[in-house]
Amino acid sequence: MLKKHEKIVYDYIIAGSGCAGLSLLYRLINNPVLKNKKILVIDKSEKIANDRTWCFWEKGKGVFESIVTHQWKKLEFKTSSFNKTFDLNQYSYKMIKGLDFYNLVLNFAKKFNNVTFKFEEVQKIETDVDHAKVKTEKGNYLAQFVFNSTPIFNPKMDASNSLLQHFEGWVIKTKKAKFNNEVGTLMDFSVSQKHGTTFMYVLPTSAHEALIEYTLFTEKLLDKEDYRIALEKYIKEDLKIDNYEILHQEFGIIPMSLAKFLRNPKAEKRIINIGTAGGFTKASSGYTFQFIQKNTEKIIHNLLLGKSPNPEITFRESMYQWYDRTVLEVIISKKMQGKDIFYKMFKKLSIEQILKFLGNESSLTDDLRIISSLPVKPFLIAGIKRLSK
Ligand SMILES: Cc1cc2nc3c(=O)[nH]c(=O)nc-3n(C[C@H](O)[C@H](O)[C@H](O)COP(=O)(O)OP(=O)(O)OC[C@H]3O[C@@H](n4cnc5c(N)ncnc54)[C@H](O)[C@@H]3O)c2cc1C
Repeated sequence: MLKKHEKIVYDYIIAGSGCAGLSLLYRLINNPVLKNKKILVIDKSEKIANDRTWCFWEKGKGVFESIVTHQWKKLEFKTSSFNKTFDLNQYSYKMIKGLDFYNLVLNFAKKFNNVTFKFEEVQKIETDVDHAKVKTEKGNYLAQFVFNSTPIFNPKMDASNSLLQHFEGWVIKTKKAKFNNEVGTLMDFSVSQKHGTTFMYVLPTSAHEALIEYTLFTEKLLDKEDYRIALEKYIKEDLKIDNYEILHQEFGIIPMSLAKFLRNPKAEKRIINIGTAGGFTKASSGYTFQFIQKNTEKIIHNLLLGKSPNPEITFRESMYQWYDRTVLEVIISKKMQGKDIFYKMFKKLSIEQILKFLGNESSLTDDLRIISSLPVKPFLIAGIKRLSK
C-alpha cells in the first residue's frame, strides 16, 4: 500500500551513480526493450570531477570503446632482477578517464524523459511485499528493483580481514620525448618493499605524457607526503626525468577484503548490490571495471528474459572467489610477499594466461598452470583455511 508521499513507483532505482550505477544506466537506455522504463538515479553528489582513471583489459571492442583514452598491446613487468615485456595478443589494456565516462552516460541520459536524477544521501534501502524502498533525507522512493552501489550494506572490514590498495597517481608531461606509448608498465616492483607489497605503474599515452602511480597493498595508509616523495624519486631516478609538469593527480583506496560483499543484501530479491558493494572488486587485485561490465551485461540479459535480475553466482565464480581469497590470505598472513607471488607468475607464465586468470576467463587447465607456478605450502594452508571461512 502506497503512503501519501510515496506516489511515484519507478521500474528501477539506481542508488549510487558511479561506475556501476552509470554502466547499468547506459546499458538500460541503450536497450530497445528497456530504454523506456521509469528509472530514478540517486547519488549524494554530482559527477563533475575527473576523480579516477580506470584501466582494464578486454578482447576486441567494448561498450565504452569511444571514450578509451589509450590502449596498449604490450605490458612490462619488472623487479630489480627481472624485466620482461609481454605481448597481449588477443587482449588490449585500456584506459578510460572517469570524467569522460560520466559525461558520456549523463549526456546520453539527458535525452530520456523517463530517467530522473536526484542528489540526495541514501539512508536506508528496504523492501515491502510489492516494492523496494529507498529512503533519503528528503523522502522515500519506490521501485520494482533497486540496484545499489552505495556502501550502506558493506561488511565490516579491518586489518584482520582486509588490506587497503592505496595509490597516488600523477599524469605528467615532459618537455623532451621520454616515453614509449606502445608499452605500459603494469608493475615495477624494483621500488622499496619496506611498507609491504609496493609497485609503480607507468602508463604512457604519448611520448611526452604518462600516468605514474605509486601503489601499495598494506594495512595502513601512508602519510600524504610519502606518496609524493616516492613518486618524485621514481620519476627522477628510475625514469630519469628532471623536467616535467603535473597535469592531474588522483588518490584512491580500493578494499581488498576477505569479508563478504553480498549481491543480495538481506536476501531480498528486489535489492541488488552492484559494483564494489556487490563484491565485483577482485579481492586479490582491486580490478573492478571489467567485472562491473560483465555483471551489468548479465543484469540486462536477465531483465530481458523476465528473470530475477540478480545474476546467480556460478560454480566458476565461486572458484575464482576462493582463489582470490587464498592469495589475499597468503599476503595478509605475511606467508609470502605480493612481489614474490607476482614474480613467480610472470616468470613462468605468459601474460595472456595471467590476464585470463585475473579476469576470471581461464579454463581449469589454465588454473592448474597458474597454481603450479606458485609454491605449494603457503597456498595449500591458505586455501584450506579459506575453504572453511
Ligand atoms: C582513484 C581510483 C582509481 C581506480 N582505478 C581502477 C582501475 O584502473 N581499474 C579498475 O578496474 N578499478 C579501479 N578502481 C576501482 C573501482 O573500479 C572503482 O572504485 C569504481 O568506481 C567502483 O565502482 P562503483 O560503482 O562500485 O563505486 P563508485 O564509482 O564509487 O560509485 C558509488 C557511488 O555511490 C555514491 N554514494 C555513496 N554513498 C552514498 C549514499 N549514502 N547516498 C547516495 N549516494 C552515495 C557515491 O557518490 C558514488 O557516486 C579505482 C578506484 C579509485 C578510487
